[in-house]
Amino acid sequence: MTGEHIPGPGGPDALVRFEQVKKSYDGLQYVVKDLNLDVARGEFLTMLGPSGSGKTTTLMMLGGFERPTLGRIMLDGKPVERLPPEKRNIGFVFQNYALFPHMTVAENVAFPLRYRGIRGQAAAAKMAQALGRVGLDAMGERRPAQLSGGQQQRVALARALVFEPSLVLMDEPLGALDKQLRERMQVEIKHLQTSLGITMVYVTHDQSEALTMSDRIAVFHDGRIQQLADPQTLYNAPANRFVAGFIGENN
Ligand code: ADP
Repeated sequence: MTGEHIPGPGGPDALVRFEQVKKSYDGLQYVVKDLNLDVARGEFLTMLGPSGSGKTTTLMMLGGFERPTLGRIMLDGKPVERLPPEKRNIGFVFQNYALFPHMTVAENVAFPLRYRGIRGQAAAAKMAQALGRVGLDAMGERRPAQLSGGQQQRVALARALVFEPSLVLMDEPLGALDKQLRERMQVEIKHLQTSLGITMVYVTHDQSEALTMSDRIAVFHDGRIQQLADPQTLYNAPANRFVAGFIGENN
C-alpha cells in the first residue's frame, strides 16, 4: 500500500489526515515511508506492529513533537505544525505515565488547564470531573508514589481528558500493567472513548488489545501500513503473510 491514498470512513471530513508522510531521523533512511491515512471523528484507530515499525514516530508527528521530513499532517483541516500546542486540543497518555512526582494527583490532573489559562473554580470543577471519570475521586491529595501502577495510569488518563480534547493519543499505555488490570483498563478506556465521543489514535504491539478495542487497525511493518481494516476483516482476511503471521501470534 504505497503511494495511493487510503480512504478512511471520515472521507473529506476526517479529523486527522496523513498525506504522503515520510520521516527520517538520520537523513539516510526513512523509518516512516509514504504514509497516507485518515482518521474519522469519533473513531478508535490503532497502530499495531512490532517494535521499530514506526508507530511511535507516527504518533509523535501527529502530536507535533516530531516534524515529517516530507509530506504533511492535517488536523481538522489545518497543518498540525502551524497550530500552537494549546490550540491542538490533543491529550496524550504514555506508557511511563510521566506524572509529576512532587505534585498531588489533583495538581497533576489540573496541570494542562493551567497553561490553557483555566484557573480557580472552573479548573477545580474540571479536575474533579476528570478524576471522577476514572474512579479516583478520593485520591486527589495523594502523591503519585502513593498509588498503584493502575491508579497512576488512571491519573494519566484523567490528565489527558481534563481539557476535553477532541483527539487523544496513547502510546502503549497499558504496557506496564499485569494482564488482568490491562484487560480491565482496555474496557474502561474504550468506554470513556465512546461515551465522550473522543477520536483515539492508539499504539500497541499487542494483537489482542488491538482486536478488542479498535474500530480500525493499521498494521505497521518496516515503516509502512501493511493493512488497514476493521478487526474482523484483519483476523479473517489478512492481506499478506506478514499480517497473517503477526495477527496469528499469541492469539
Ligand atoms: P515503534 O514505535 O513501532 O517501536 P519507532 O517509531 O519508535 O517504532 O521507531 C522506528 C525506527 O526509528 C526505529 O528503527 C528506531 O530506532 C528509529 N527511531 C525512533 N526514534 C528515533 C530518534 N529519536 N532518533 C533516531 N532514530 C529513532
